[in-house]
Amino acid sequence: MYLKSLTLRGFKSFASATALHFEPGITCVVGPNGSGKSNVVDALSWVMGEQGAKSLRGGKMEDVIFAGTSGRAPLGRAEVELTIDNTDGALPIDYTEVTIKRTMFRSGGSDYQINGQNARLLDVQELLSDSGIGREMHVIVGQGQLDSILQATPEGRRGFVEEAAGVLKHRKRREKAVRK
Ligand code: ATP
Ligand code: MG
Repeated sequence: MYLKSLTLRGFKSFASATALHFEPGITCVVGPNGSGKSNVVDALSWVMGEQGAKSLRGGKMEDVIFAGTSGRAPLGRAEVELTIDNTDGALPIDYTEVTIKRTMFRSGGSDYQINGQNARLLDVQELLSDSGIGREMHVIVGQGQLDSILQATPEGRRGFVEEAAGVLKHRKRREKAVRK
């Protein structure tokens, strides 16, 4: 399983349809400051069902819709399509290729489609939940986060590892219980 392509339409700075094609292995996105590299990563989280405006570096969910520039009027909707190669059957669906699409209008609410069929957020979450790339599972290290990991104290670094392994919440609960 690997990400094959990502198409953005009206998502953040990508007013015109923009398709990115990926190969198996490592992909690098390079470009000047403010050219939209982090917006591409935001699109990836968003299409997989991200519900938090803050995680998408915005104040409200509608901030993902192209807001206009001096030369171009704002748009009314944002659309992102993610195509995943599923020839190894890692995703529990009978297709060798899976396309997830999310659409959002300024009036609010998101629509999802899986291979062209209307779907619910829950369907998207279930599709991705055992794959290691779902909303809760994918590992996205945000800009600046790497510095804080490298500069962390040993205790802080342990916290990152524990969080990634999903044991931090249990340790916090235990510490709370021991204090009582
Ligand atoms: P850096 O190298 O500094 O990290 P970057 O390539 O990651 O830059 P992004 O943060 O992806 O850049 O893009 C920032 C740009 O996206 C800004 O110019 C901002 O105005 C624009 N942008 C963000 N949201 C929207 C939106 N809703 N509509 C239009 N433009 C937007
Ligand atoms: Mg950036």
